[in-house]
Amino acid sequence: MTSRKLLLLPGDGIGPEAMTEVRKLIDFMNNELQAGFEIEEGVVGGAAYDAHGQAISEEDMAKAMAADAVLFGAVGGPKWDSVPYDVRPEAGLLRLRKDMELFANLRPAICYPALAEASSLKPDVVEGLDILIVRELTGGVYFGEPKEIIDLGNGQKRGIDTQIYDTYEIERIAGVAFELARNRRNKVTSMEKRNVMKSGVLWNEVVTNTHKERYSDVELDHMLADAGGMQLVRWPKQFDVIVTDNLFGDMLSDVAAMLTGSLGMLPSASLGAPDGKTGKRKALYEPVHGSAPDIAGKGMANPIAMIASFAMCLKYSFDMVTEADRLEAAIANVLDRGIRTSDIASGDMTTVSTGQMGDEIVKEF
Ligand code: ATP
Ligand code: MG
Repeated sequence: MTSRKLLLLPGDGIGPEAMTEVRKLIDFMNNELQAGFEIEEGVVGGAAYDAHGQAISEEDMAKAMAADAVLFGAVGGPKWDSVPYDVRPEAGLLRLRKDMELFANLRPAICYPALAEASSLKPDVVEGLDILIVRELTGGVYFGEPKEIIDLGNGQKRGIDTQIYDTYEIERIAGVAFELARNRRNKVTSMEKRNVMKSGVLWNEVVTNTHKERYSDVELDHMLADAGGMQLVRWPKQFDVIVTDNLFGDMLSDVAAMLTGSLGMLPSASLGAPDGKTGKRKALYEPVHGSAPDIAGKGMANPIAMIASFAMCLKYSFDMVTEADRLEAAIANVLDRGIRTSDIASGDMTTVSTGQMGDEIVKEF
């Protein structure tokens, strides 16, 4: 039996509550389907700070580097607002991203039929929506040097950020997008601002070349990122996979998120480069939402974002596509049956707790 090493980092706030529901699925798959998941647990964020004064320990970092995949809950909360900057809860996630070199951030925007009414857009615009935003996560203007505020002396200051992209960075993120598209509807839309940015000119050129050399079977479109944002809201179903840089990806994936309704529904994956020997990618899966301190400990959190993140993990880290599809179908069925946590309930629908939602999804699985 293949061994599948999973590290669970529940974190803070609603992170542990959501992780408990994923744990039910893992136990079910191990017991009923002999899935062979080997589970390790670690501590991250405020919980880690409380335990040993760091946002993640070296020991847990080593576990993350050795795992086939990491499931991450959420970190942070008002309790840790005044801890020193370099050990603040979020530093745990940043360290994981950096050391695991997670350069590709995948954020699907899926609109479950039962929730189309809850979107901020007309139901027919989003019903059946299934798009994937692939955001470059380790380069661009968030990291480029120089990055500083200079005092110009005459009461004026200058804030500087630098957008830098090298060929290899664009090539590898484009490769991820094309490969994902092959298992979807075979279409990639690349977004940049080549009309005003040199890095955009290079982005466009490298994506075009990567397409020509290795992925000409996939349909490729280019769009300026501002026009892309507009199209995303106007008629999102025209897209399949969108590939874009760190900054535009940050904004466009939040826009896409709102197309589908609740934060409590949205999963994400962050992938690294394939290992030279095994071909396996380092990977971390987490819900898009944060620790939601306002509802933590009340059994109100929607566990679907975390569970759907686990579905992505099955698909991308373990090639368990059938099981991932089954899990997504189980989520859809539970929603079709009108089962709702309070964040996705409308009108006078009765609501269930975090634990009941998890139980129902396991039952439908
Ligand atoms: P962060 O800075 O970590 O992103 P945040 O305060 O910006 O955190 P979230 O923690 O993601 O945002 O949540 C914002 C609000 O959305 C929460 O306070 C909560 O009311 C709601 N929310 C988020 N996730 C969920 C969920 N899984 N289930 C129910 N409600 C949620
Ligand atoms: Mg936030």
